Formats: sequence, C-alpha cells, structure tokens
Amino acid sequence: MGCPIHSRPPKTVPPNQSEIAGGQVIELCLTQHSRLLLYTFKLPEICAWPPRDEELYQMTSPVGIGNQSGSSEAPRDPFHAYHAYTERHLDDIPQLACLPEHHRFAMRTIANVLPFRVNRYVIEELIDWNRVPDDPIFQLTFPQPGMLAPGQFELMANLLKSGGTRDEIKALATKLRLELNPHPGGQLQLNVPLLDGHKLQGVQHKYSETVLFFPSQGQTCHAYCTFCFRWAQFVGDPSLLFLLREQNSLYRYLAAHKEVTDVLITGGDPMIMKTRHLIRHLEPFLDPSFEHIRNIRIGTKSLAFWPYRFTSDDDADDLLRFIERLIKAGKNVCIIAHYNHWRELETTAAIEAIRRLQSAGPIIRSQGPLLAHINDDPNVWAQLWSKQVSLNIVPYYMFVERDTGARRYFEVPLARACEIYRNAINQVSGLARHARGPSMSAGPGKVEIQGTAEIAGEKVFVLRFIQARNPEWVQRPFFAHFDYTATWLNDLKPAFHQEKFFFENEYEAMCQSAGAARLHKIATI
Ligand code: SF4
Repeated sequence: MGCPIHSRPPKTVPPNQSEIAGGQVIELCLTQHSRLLLYTFKLPEICAWPPRDEELYQMTSPVGIGNQSGSSEAPRDPFHAYHAYTERHLDDIPQLACLPEHHRFAMRTIANVLPFRVNRYVIEELIDWNRVPDDPIFQLTFPQPGMLAPGQFELMANLLKSGGTRDEIKALATKLRLELNPHPGGQLQLNVPLLDGHKLQGVQHKYSETVLFFPSQGQTCHAYCTFCFRWAQFVGDPSLLFLLREQNSLYRYLAAHKEVTDVLITGGDPMIMKTRHLIRHLEPFLDPSFEHIRNIRIGTKSLAFWPYRFTSDDDADDLLRFIERLIKAGKNVCIIAHYNHWRELETTAAIEAIRRLQSAGPIIRSQGPLLAHINDDPNVWAQLWSKQVSLNIVPYYMFVERDTGARRYFEVPLARACEIYRNAINQVSGLARHARGPSMSAGPGKVEIQGTAEIAGEKVFVLRFIQARNPEWVQRPFFAHFDYTATWLNDLKPAFHQEKFFFENEYEAMCQSAGAARLHKIATI
C-alpha cells in the first residue's frame, strides 16, 4: 500500500503529468518537495497511471555492474524496489526541471567525468526540493558546477556542445580523471600486501592489525557521494579499479598474519551485495584458523542511502540472521556507517533500518568527512552526533576531505575544520564526544589535528597520529606552522624552523622501497 486511496505506491511522478492532471499539477510537480506533492495526487488517474515506471526506472549502472541493489532479486514490497539513475537518466528526474538549463547542462558535463548514481529513496525522501540547489543532500548526491576546475569543465562542456562521439567523450573523461588523483594516499603503491611475491589485488594492509578488502561484487553503492574518495572504483575504467578477484588468496594471507585482529570489508559498499555473497566472504572467518580475527568491520552507507536493505529487501532477514550468527560465534561485528548530515537519520525508513540492524547485535559507529556545501557548520555536526547518540550509534570520526576527485569543491581549510569541530563538540553530551577529528587519512597514517596553540611565540597546529604505518609514530604529538589556507597534510610545514617532520625520513624510505618515490611528494609532505 502506498497511494492513500489505492494500492499503488505514491512514489513516482509520471513523466506525462500534463496529460493526466493538467498544468497546475505540473507546476506543483516541478517546484515542490516530492513527498508533499505526491500525497497531493489523490486523483484516481494518477493511481491508474500505466506501468511506465517499469520503463522509466529500470536503469542500468554506468559500469555495467547491474541495476539491482544487489541485495535482493525481488523485494517483498515492490514499492521499495531499488532503481538507480545514472548520468544517462538525468533528464528522467522530473524534480530537476526546477533548475535552469545551464545548471542542468553543467551537471551533465560533470557527470561525464565523475560518477553519478542516485535512487528514488534519496530523491523522494532525503532531498528537500524546496531548497535545491543548496539542499545538503542534493549537494551530496548530484553533480554541481564547480566540481571540476574551469579548464577541465570547459573541455568537456565544449565536447558535449559540439556533439562529440561516445568514444571521444570517454577518452576525454579518462584523461581528466587521471588529473584528479584517483588513488590518494599511496593506496596502490604502499598498501597492497604481497603473497608469494605477488601483489594481493583488492586488499590493503596499511596498519598492522587491520586488513581491508574490496570484494568485486561490492564495488558500487546505492547512490554515489559527489565527494567520494573511492570514485575511481565507479567509472568503469579497469586500470583504476581496485578489487579482490581471488578470495582464497586473502584467506591464505590472513591465516599467515596472526597480528591481524580486524578485517574491514569495504567498497563501494559491501551491503550492495546479496546476502549470500556477503556470507561467502565473511563466513570463512568462523573457521578456527581465524581465531585471531576478532573484529569484523563492515563499511557502509546503505543505512543512509538505502535503508530498505535492512527492512524490506528480500534477503534483509537473512542478512540480520547472518550478523547474529557471527556475533554468537564470538566475533565482534562493527558497522562503520557513513553519515554526512543529520537529515539522513530523520526518515522513518532510516530509523527502522537502524533499529532492525541493532536487533541483530552489532555496534554501529559513524564517520564521515567535513565538506563545504554539505556540513561545514558546527550546528550540523552537533545535531548529527546528538541524533546518533539518541539512536545508540557511536560517533567515531570527522574526516578531512581527501585529496582526490572533486575535492576543490568540498575542501575546508584545516584551521576552519578545527573551529567547526571544537564548536560542535562543545555543544554535545559526553556520549557524543567519542568523535575524533578532524582527521586526515594521509600516506603516512591517520593524522588528527588536535587544535592550534601558541608555543615559544609561534602559532602552530598540534597534530598526532591516530594510526600510522609505523606503530611507533602513534600518539606522538608533533607541530606544524599555522597556515590558515592549508587544507591537507602536504600543505603544512614543520614548526620551530625544523626541516622535516619526525617521521618523514622513515616514510620516504618506505616509499622508495615500495617503488613509489614520487608518492612522498604527492601524498605526504
Ligand atoms: S558511500 Fe562511500 S564509497 Fe560509496 S560513493 Fe559514498 S563515499 Fe564513495
């Protein structure tokens, strides 16, 4: 049941409103928040609207991974069937008609370079169309003018205007993507472990106790964040892809590395996979040979972008039962939930998903980056963390936006990030003060900016490693000369006239031995 009168869900806006309901409804349809609007449609004609939505919403992924949420073949509730919109379907989203043509063209231009994917839940439940284009969830999911440098934008815009062929557009997109630092922080050179002398693709072992792996079926998401630091996974370029092809090699590696206590299954979003695939990846850790793997972390944005994964998708119950089984077998299962704005926690579906997931027993921790246009406001973070605590979610990290993709659009100076963090944390209860931040996942490790201070007449940033390639670096405070314009670790200079930070020589040696000498300049200092 969805339509207030009939059994049809009131979730879709017919593309041919004018034939059905007349000009006034079109006006409403294009300018109002869709939730309000759709409940305005009490006309029998709308409810009897022929099944054109089958045509309209059966979209395919831009990288050919599929149009499914991955989580169910046929959801129990057809209203909550997952359908994705990609760059080819921008014109099929009626709500976008409220934007001027030049804005929509700019969105199309950007979406030919950076990945775009959104779904009906995000469009109809999360975005407030009255506030578009400034709405934070719209900024979070739809490409915006300014996300590419002017020169890059112009090249793609001119090609589209001149009717460039698909191949020409693809070639230019590939060239522009390589200028956007697709794999920040030395992910490909430094983090990939070796097994039998060969690189173990789709696995990262950066910190001794934690191994990340990227299952091939999990390399997409229910919607894409416009700032995504893993965007290179989604553009269909095999040379940029990072994924696990040989599952057994991962287990052989982990069986031999008893120092590893934590595995993080990540993507993309592993919750995009059907439960049976998730089980195939995680069940082996129940074997006694993996007793040392105590913590299973699952990184996901699905609680925000597709909460039906935990409620009405056909294999939602199987998923919860499997998580329960892992916990009963003695594993600590931790959901690393990705949230960017408190609005993602407001819908009935979002709250129900959190409750159902929690009923299976895992701890949910939340993290997300600080982003201009979306959440660069202490009140937004205070509200986000307070709301999370009230839902029994542990605030975990405020990250600094990484040096990749559309970072130019989202970056916030480190000094401003410190202010936002301080002014947010001082508004919330002690239970919300677990949130660390602002933190940079940089080449040498995870660096937290603890604040600014004046020492011996010099204004400095006070920094520490929360995690590091060398565990000896962790928790050791170090200082950088204060710079109001700095937005990343490599913009900072050591304080007190030092030539280098304490870890630099060692990190440089690590880069050189990994054959990544250039990385030292790019990703670090
Ligand atoms: S959910 Fe994570 S991996 Fe997916 S688009 Fe957003 S930031 Fe990227």
